[in-house]
Amino acid sequence: MRPSILYFDNAATTPLDEEVFEAMLPYLKEHFGNPSAIHSMGRQTRSAIEKTRKVIAQHLNVSPSEIFFTSGATEANNMALLGAVRDLGVKRIISSPTEHHCVLHTLEHLAQAWNVEVKTLPLSEWGRVDLAVLEEWITSDENRVPTLVSLMHANNEIGAMLPFKKISQLCTENGIYLHSDTVQTFGHYTFDLQRTPVDFLSASAHKFHGPKGVGFLYINSRLHISPMIFGGSQERNMRAGTENVAGIVGLGKAVEVAYTHLEEDREYVTALRNYLAEQLEQRFPQLIFNTDWKNSSLYTVLNVAFPPVYKTDLLLMNLDIAGICASGGSACSSGVEQRSHVLQAINVPTDCVAVRFSFSKKNTREQVDELLQRLENILQ
Ligand code: PLP
Repeated sequence: MRPSILYFDNAATTPLDEEVFEAMLPYLKEHFGNPSAIHSMGRQTRSAIEKTRKVIAQHLNVSPSEIFFTSGATEANNMALLGAVRDLGVKRIISSPTEHHCVLHTLEHLAQAWNVEVKTLPLSEWGRVDLAVLEEWITSDENRVPTLVSLMHANNEIGAMLPFKKISQLCTENGIYLHSDTVQTFGHYTFDLQRTPVDFLSASAHKFHGPKGVGFLYINSRLHISPMIFGGSQERNMRAGTENVAGIVGLGKAVEVAYTHLEEDREYVTALRNYLAEQLEQRFPQLIFNTDWKNSSLYTVLNVAFPPVYKTDLLLMNLDIAGICASGGSACSSGVEQRSHVLQAINVPTDCVAVRFSFSKKNTREQVDELLQRLENILQ
């Protein structure tokens, strides 16, 4: 018999909330009008889209006209970075080695095709960016090269968090553009972009119980960015193509649900994550934590590395066989180096196997106990 599934891969994607599903259904069935149409069916779907735009704007404390729907955060990040270089004349981008590939690969492209100078910050403890170096790079630039800082709010693999306020202040004071990938934090933390300004911010619905294939980019209204996709006049000429209406409705509902229960969900998930960490520490005393779970870190993530004193051979495959959905990023048992760029950047020992367990409000203490039991069977 197959073991029951234990889903601990919520940083990859989360299950849809029931309320989100219910909200989307009518827009997959009876409310199918094209939002660009001027008749009543079109007006109905247009109004649903604008409702989501308002909800997001409210939770960022910005104007709805600063929100642009996209197919997700990959597109939003591409749009922000390409737009900053092409339309704002950015010549230098400061980023980190642990950004998501949708940022890193865009930066490679910008360096090659647009001759942009890409500077990669060193990391300090727990995979956090070295703030002192960032400050030094920003303040010592006497030529005032137009610069963008692009840093993720929280890392998806190890949960390292950015001191958002400090970075925002540093960039604002020095006249530097700031882009932040908040995919792992929007829907999990509160934002107020009036107090903590940024120029670009991206998020994705499927990381907080919304549907896949929909997200948004916030662009500060003082910036004039041209579209990346050409065609119709959707999204106020910024992003052509008939809107993903059901997806956008689902995104709006996911935002509402997430922020209604934010505090209690955060407390609940943090307690579960910390319980797993404490139990792992007791049962596998030689494991290495890659997440600073005792201090400040993304509360949904726990990344650990098992050294070879445990039975780590084919660990990820064995987790899968045992019904455990978690994420790897490291598998060196075959002798082939497969560590992710993030694990390499934080120097996880090459003989260790790293596993990321990531949580959501749908996980339970019983699941964590069952996970521990199965882990013991595999590793000892
Ligand atoms: N940025 C981060 C930090 C992510 O974790 C992800 C998704 O894994 C993305 C960007 C890409 O988001 P999307 O799936 O919406 O394209």
